[in-house]
Amino acid sequence: MAIPKVYKTEAIVLKHFNLKEADRILTLYTPNLGKLSAVAKGVRRPKSRMGGHLELLTHCALMLTRGRNLDTINQSETISSFLPLREDLWRSSLALYAAELVSQFTVEHVENYHAYKLLLDTLHRLCETRNGELTLRFFEINLLTHLGYKPELYQCIACKHDLEPTANYFSASGGGVLCPACRSREALSRPVSLNALKVMRLCQQEDYSKVSKVKVKQELSMEIEGIMRQYIRYLLEREVKSVAWLDRLRREL
Ligand SMILES: [Zn+2]
Repeated sequence: MAIPKVYKTEAIVLKHFNLKEADRILTLYTPNLGKLSAVAKGVRRPKSRMGGHLELLTHCALMLTRGRNLDTINQSETISSFLPLREDLWRSSLALYAAELVSQFTVEHVENYHAYKLLLDTLHRLCETRNGELTLRFFEINLLTHLGYKPELYQCIACKHDLEPTANYFSASGGGVLCPACRSREALSRPVSLNALKVMRLCQQEDYSKVSKVKVKQELSMEIEGIMRQYIRYLLEREVKSVAWLDRLRREL
């Protein structure tokens, strides 16, 4: 169905950059239209009524006009500004990482409602969680699943046997776990401990309400982060930019 010339949508602001004197280009993620770019004209003028509603990571309701190259935002209202994220540098950095991941993994105008809902839920969760890292791991594993990159965590990706409860190996290029016997087939595989595998499976299988109650020690958290980071880097064929910022912040906070 063709989108009418003027249309309404909810959106999360993933990115923005300034254009000319007072305009701003936004990258938006929407429930039914996927990712899209739009211009907010005059939004940086002090009297603009849209200004405060189009900040980074805002969940907003928009009215837009379709353009030949770029749609234009006519009206915007804030649904949630996720205030606790704005008041906490660590939480906001985790949220920006989540937004960057969605932005990098998606192409414009391809609907993925599950990915949208997951991002929206994650922003709400990051406002409240005491373990933002686990919230992010849950987000990553489920986002990859919604995008068609669900990691195989139960069977060896080579011999197809059920994995034994022991240390196994994660292969980013294979998109899952190798048993010790098949490990040599993939030179770049890395060890994955039984506990790391259990937490990753939990993120894949269970609701967030259950996952968020699990206590994960720092060392285990770092192990899972390392595995996911390698997998994501492999899929994107580049580093997620905000990763370096998260690492720096972690050292300094
Ligand atoms: Zn095997």
